[in-house]
Amino acid sequence: MSKIRTLRHVADSGATMLAVCHAVGCRHTRPVDLHKLMKAVGELASVLPVRDQSHFSERMRCPECGHRGMFLWVEQPQKPHPISNSRMNFLVTAYDRETNRVISDVLRASDRRVAHGGFSVAEAIMPAARLEMTFQNRIIHQSHLRIVRGGRG
Ligand SMILES: [Zn+2]
Repeated sequence: MSKIRTLRHVADSGATMLAVCHAVGCRHTRPVDLHKLMKAVGELASVLPVRDQSHFSERMRCPECGHRGMFLWVEQPQKPHPISNSRMNFLVTAYDRETNRVISDVLRASDRRVAHGGFSVAEAIMPAARLEMTFQNRIIHQSHLRIVRGGRG
């Protein structure tokens, strides 16, 4: 599967998209109506925020608590190919809390904010998993410790 960058890519890949409320106390999660969203913001809109540009997800309002801003989460219909891009230094991995086995690599990112956003979303929608974020293969954030050591980058 090719890289998913735009809403059109998401729709074409057969993936579904979830929106998760930014508010920590809410984390309301709902499926996104892709076709409605593409009509509203354009099918070439970037799924991930672009640096220094406002993103449509920041304008999405939570139907549950009214908070403005939703994280977007793309659920792949199949395992994505591993990304061997060396700039993708941030990796978020989900582990089974019981067996400590890897459930999935939930996110690779080159941008720290994207990585942290993805981590928060994964915490919200995968409460049974232990999550770990690494930067250049060093652990910088773990869900059960909830500390962030000063990594580089
Ligand atoms: Zn909410």
